[in-house]
Amino acid sequence: MKDSLALGIDLGGSKIYAMVTDADNQILAAAKTPTDSTAEAEAIIRTMVDTGAEALAKLNRTIADIPHIGAAFPSPVDPGTGDCSFATNLGGRNFSAKKIFREITGREVFLGNDGDLGTLAEFHSGAGKPDRNVIGYFIGTGLGGGLVIEGHLLKGNCGLAGELGHMIIRKGGRRCGCGHRGCIEAYCSKIAYVKAIRKALRKSSELTLLPPDKFNEKTVNIKSKYLAKAYVDGDNVVRNAIDKGSMMLGIAAASACALVAPDCIVLGGGVISAMGNVILPVFRKSFEAHLFGIPPSKIRIALSSYGDDAVAVGATILARAEGKV
Ligand SMILES: [Zn+2]
Repeated sequence: MKDSLALGIDLGGSKIYAMVTDADNQILAAAKTPTDSTAEAEAIIRTMVDTGAEALAKLNRTIADIPHIGAAFPSPVDPGTGDCSFATNLGGRNFSAKKIFREITGREVFLGNDGDLGTLAEFHSGAGKPDRNVIGYFIGTGLGGGLVIEGHLLKGNCGLAGELGHMIIRKGGRRCGCGHRGCIEAYCSKIAYVKAIRKALRKSSELTLLPPDKFNEKTVNIKSKYLAKAYVDGDNVVRNAIDKGSMMLGIAAASACALVAPDCIVLGGGVISAMGNVILPVFRKSFEAHLFGIPPSKIRIALSSYGDDAVAVGATILARAEGKV
């Protein structure tokens, strides 16, 4: 069925990931390009389109003849206009991503926030299925989140519902990239782990098993696979940083349950793909200890079934539904 195909493009912190799916959300083709975070919005969106075209070319298709196109941004999308006009990692503010896409492709491209779309994919056809109320947490460079409530993606005022990484769980706590202190993202994200590991190494005589070419005084981010290996090999400094993040995420998730009483919590993102098996028990213990009212057995905790693909798959679902999710 030619017309059931959709293209989804995920703008991530380190890579742009495009994929083509069929009506059953099966991935038929994909392509990746590194993200140049220093580029202007227009240049980045052009690279997103080129990456999409590369994935389509593998199926002998083009941007002009694909029926549905969706894209995910690491920033809020206005629920009224469906547009994204501000992203710190897109060279600034006050652009119209929708307009730039239209100028480059001649097509309408449906836009969504990355955490929202990852949660949408897991709800729709991944680990959240068949539940109606799903919270998604995506641990990567930062901590993304999303809320599906009674079967619909909750967008909220200014599209800012589900910014779960910026729930403040400790007054005066660690400084977050957003400028506030004590956000859960400042404990449970790769940027947070790197800072915590460096601080611990400065303060003690302990050593880390992380490779010196991947982790040093200047490191801002690190691939999940190196963290996972050091954790499994018994690196105490790495274990402490990640276990603290998982414990704090348990507190944040229990607080979120007091707000929305979900049926299911999905944990996803690159860190979960690499080491979900060691994060889950620490998370679960803390989550259960802080949960109010609902028996823990009534809330399903699931690891993402789409892994790194979740956000781009969510963009294809958004595009097929023409933004009405
Ligand atoms: Zn924050």
